[in-house]
Amino acid sequence: MESNLNCQAYNCAYNKNNYCYASHIKVEGYEATITPETYCDSFKNKSSFSFSNFSSETNLTNTQNISCSAKNCTYNVNGACNAKHVDINFENATCETFRLSH
Ligand code: SF4
Repeated sequence: MESNLNCQAYNCAYNKNNYCYASHIKVEGYEATITPETYCDSFKNKSSFSFSNFSSETNLTNTQNISCSAKNCTYNVNGACNAKHVDINFENATCETFRLSH
């Protein structure tokens, strides 16, 4: 099974082989104009949380499972993300796909 959401934050409890198994994620960045001002609010540090059944394929997260507050992003449509592919960074779980709309 594949997803169009790739996440490098392998220190997240929902991350498995760079896929996200949170089923739904929230990306924040209401005022963001650059990638470092965005972040995945669903990130859970692996050292503090452990999930035994997170790897279920039904929990695989796709871009259509993203709620996003980064209203300045060109891919944001009323709080949903319409990017064909989203990459979440290792660095603070920011959204690498963010593009400032003009
Ligand atoms: S690409 Fe844009 S709309 Fe999609 S999650 Fe990233 S910041 Fe939000």
